[in-house]
Amino acid sequence: MKVSIIGAGYVGLVTGLCLADRGHRIQCVDVDEERINGLANGILPIHEAGLDRLLNKHLGHGFVPTTDLATAVMESELTVIAVGTPVRNGAIDLSYVASAAGSIGKVLARKGGFHVVVVKSTVVPGTTDELVRPVLETSSGKSSGSDFGVGMNPEFLREGEAVDDFQNPDRIVLGADDSGSLEVMMRLYASFRDTHLVCTNTRTAEMIKYTSNALLATLISFSNEIGNLCAVAGGVDVVDVLGAVHLDKRISPIESDGRRTTPAITSYLKAGCGFGGSCFPKDVRALIQWSTDRERPVRLLNAVLETNEQQPHELIALLDRHFHDLRNVHVAVLGLAFKPGTDDVRESPALRIIPELLRRGAVVSAYDPIAVAQAKLALGDSKVFYAPSLETAIENADAVVLLTSWPEFQQMPELLQAREPLPMVVDGRRFLDKTRIPRYEGIGLSGESTRRRAAVASH
Ligand code: NAD
Repeated sequence: MKVSIIGAGYVGLVTGLCLADRGHRIQCVDVDEERINGLANGILPIHEAGLDRLLNKHLGHGFVPTTDLATAVMESELTVIAVGTPVRNGAIDLSYVASAAGSIGKVLARKGGFHVVVVKSTVVPGTTDELVRPVLETSSGKSSGSDFGVGMNPEFLREGEAVDDFQNPDRIVLGADDSGSLEVMMRLYASFRDTHLVCTNTRTAEMIKYTSNALLATLISFSNEIGNLCAVAGGVDVVDVLGAVHLDKRISPIESDGRRTTPAITSYLKAGCGFGGSCFPKDVRALIQWSTDRERPVRLLNAVLETNEQQPHELIALLDRHFHDLRNVHVAVLGLAFKPGTDDVRESPALRIIPELLRRGAVVSAYDPIAVAQAKLALGDSKVFYAPSLETAIENADAVVLLTSWPEFQQMPELLQAREPLPMVVDGRRFLDKTRIPRYEGIGLSGESTRRRAAVASH
């Protein structure tokens, strides 16, 4: 099938290359010429496991990057909109979606045949029907349902595992308000034979995406609140508490052979320094504003965000327990990406913690295996020393703050063996083995003073 994709970002690129791998012919359009030129020369603008292999395999054949939207739409039968939907002043900014729809509509005005426009960007319920459809109708002078179709196909990929998620989806949601559009969308995904298909209307498809992200964000903030409570309880470690909660058979079912399955959802029921990335914070904010506009405010979600915004400060508070004043204290920040496996730093906890450390006069060195370039752009001309390796970052550090659970950080106990004096390690992800690190603090762990008080009380 000939497909045009508008937007060559995380979602557009992964979608385009994975669909090319399934035999479709893709033209991937972006307004960013540098990005398109780079792609045309085999250079990916993002880090995502497996994507370079797909680009090498399909570039120039099944996958063509281009800035020429008109030709891409004209030569395809289906167009996917995968442009950004940022939040500005607390509400979703749909201007990129509207602009893309306007450009597509102008091409549809002179194109024959039934063309389907599918919204893949995350958009608030009603957007496909009330914004995309009318913009397409106005700019094309044609009628949806008969001359062209519209659909909504939310994307559930996780950065860091995007290619695998796209190729092995847990569900494919196809929202359409007419059968012609649905039929074309089903052909796009025909090769995903064993995948659960959810065929519904466009508004439900839009709502499913927000509900999924809001649920996961809620689990994280819930876990963080419990962690903060454990930290003051005395002798309590949130890892033990939530670990036992995970064993509830309604969460981790016991199979007939007695073995347990540990569902991936348990990874969201863990305490840490908060969620970041381009989706959870923005989507929760957009849903809050959308619900408020409809006079049905989702009060719970305000708390989810508030907890998340506060959570990085919990780490600074752990440092404050050990350093009277952070002036001239050398703090090594490990992990700049919002999660391992990606170089995306959007809304990463590091972007909150580093400026606060600098404001308090700390000397900051930072290390991330792949996200340094993105962090430099995001933090601007800051006084951070970006270390070329983990070893260099922690050299001379008085404190080490772990913010991203990159596997290589597991070497910390070995790296600290020869260190004198030992730095204080503050684990923002509860990723390290606390028993192997002599000076250890972690989110959700009662501090040394509360631990001592609890021990005395229990005698
Ligand atoms: P992104 O910022 O990485 O990419 C968007 C791209 O669209 C940019 O390269 C931009 O230049 C391009 N663009 C904007 N307007 C354009 C236009 N008129 N014509 C052509 N190109 C245009 O964004 P992303 O992370 O890929 O997210 C895209 C959408 O998918 C968002 O709505 C997001 O919420 C959603 N989503 C993202 C993820 C994720 O993990 N990143 C997962 C699921 C859903």
